[in-house]
Amino acid sequence: MIEINTSKIEEAIKTLCKKSATCLDKNTFMLLQNAYYNEQNTTSKEILGQILQNAYIANKNQRPICQDTGQVIVFLEIGQDVHITGKSLNSAIQNAVGECYTENYFRKSINTCIERENTHNNAPAIIHSEIVDGEQIKITVCLKGGGSENMSKSAMLYPAQGIDGILNFVLNTVKVASSKSCPPIVIGIGIGGNLEQSAINSKKALILDRKRTKKEEEFLQKINTLNIGASGKGGNTTAIDLKIIEAPCHIASLPVSISLNCHASRHSSAIIGQQICYNFEKYEIDKITCTDSPKEISTEDIESIKKLKTGEKILLTGKIYTARDAAHKRLLEDKQKPFEIKNSIIFYAGPCPAAPGEVIGPIGPTTSTRMDDYTEELLKKGLIATIGKGERRDDIIKAHQKHGAIYLCATGGVASLLGQCVKNCKLIAYEDLGPEAIYELYVEKMPLFVACGNINEEN
Ligand code: SF4
Repeated sequence: MIEINTSKIEEAIKTLCKKSATCLDKNTFMLLQNAYYNEQNTTSKEILGQILQNAYIANKNQRPICQDTGQVIVFLEIGQDVHITGKSLNSAIQNAVGECYTENYFRKSINTCIERENTHNNAPAIIHSEIVDGEQIKITVCLKGGGSENMSKSAMLYPAQGIDGILNFVLNTVKVASSKSCPPIVIGIGIGGNLEQSAINSKKALILDRKRTKKEEEFLQKINTLNIGASGKGGNTTAIDLKIIEAPCHIASLPVSISLNCHASRHSSAIIGQQICYNFEKYEIDKITCTDSPKEISTEDIESIKKLKTGEKILLTGKIYTARDAAHKRLLEDKQKPFEIKNSIIFYAGPCPAAPGEVIGPIGPTTSTRMDDYTEELLKKGLIATIGKGERRDDIIKAHQKHGAIYLCATGGVASLLGQCVKNCKLIAYEDLGPEAIYELYVEKMPLFVACGNINEEN
């Protein structure tokens, strides 16, 4: 029997959360690097280059890879010969998460479910524990972003649907997710067990550190023929990894769960016995330099913005405003708008808090379609452009075109890179919304893609 005090567990969780948020594990980085060198589609290759550049900057500055520093999932494998001493295990874990997110200026993204009030410490973490043999505790921390989590799915298939039915379900889930889950994605699949076991296994599959089986390889190849590609721009890199965990199930059932993770697949682990041993593999992060020279556009040059065509790449300089879900709701309710909507640009983003010396913390786009219900009202008031990630509803694309506005996409999950483009930041409204407050930003050469340009320019 070994005694492990919860202070050691707290220390390990804090270290693992920080490491996961700021440095990709070696395996994920190598998969992304291979994808970059093998990608034939030039736009997707450029996006993969941005992802690698971002990993370099985040690691160098010890700042988050993505502004969504995620919901913390903690997997515990507790040896049955361990006696845990100190405070309660749950409060030790939640405390460690709160301290890590506060001390490191990470974004706190956890809300109460119905009232949507921020918990202000990114807790509670979700904890999955199992009792195993031995005198040690293995802790794995996974930081799971909301964009990819929203596209994950569970289903109860009929047993007769078999492996082909499972593959179809996986392909459909990835197609529906498209660019919303920030591809290239990592896919975890739980097959069998029951509803909740398949879901937990799909999460565990995301962090499995082993070679792919033949079946996993076949699934991955099929997914990579979907031509979704990095950020949905096409090409052969829709997913970089796929793992399956199977469990026996009832004769009447075939539960299947699919956890989608974005390219910012952030996780790390440690083993606690007499000491804490971290499983961090050191590696060199190459500095990738993009050679492309996109068109430079000023936010004051309304005529040029209006003329931008779908597919163009630009570097945007000037004033833009952040607003995401909660801010949009208030923006529409408020008679007195906190900024002039006419000829403005809204960036669907909620940054990390600024660390000392920073203008702003890492910042990147959130999934645009969540703002679709609010968008037309703002377009009617003269909004000239929206910036986000992922597809929009057809009626909202048409509304942009009808009102002479455009929709721009920023690469999801490259928040340290995009944060460097922000030269000035001013909080202008709804401070109580925390990361969802409205900020006025001055950006310089922010790399963007025109996802929906001016219809007349395309004809
Ligand atoms: S990379 Fe995309 S899906 Fe992942 S956490 Fe960041 S914004 Fe969310």
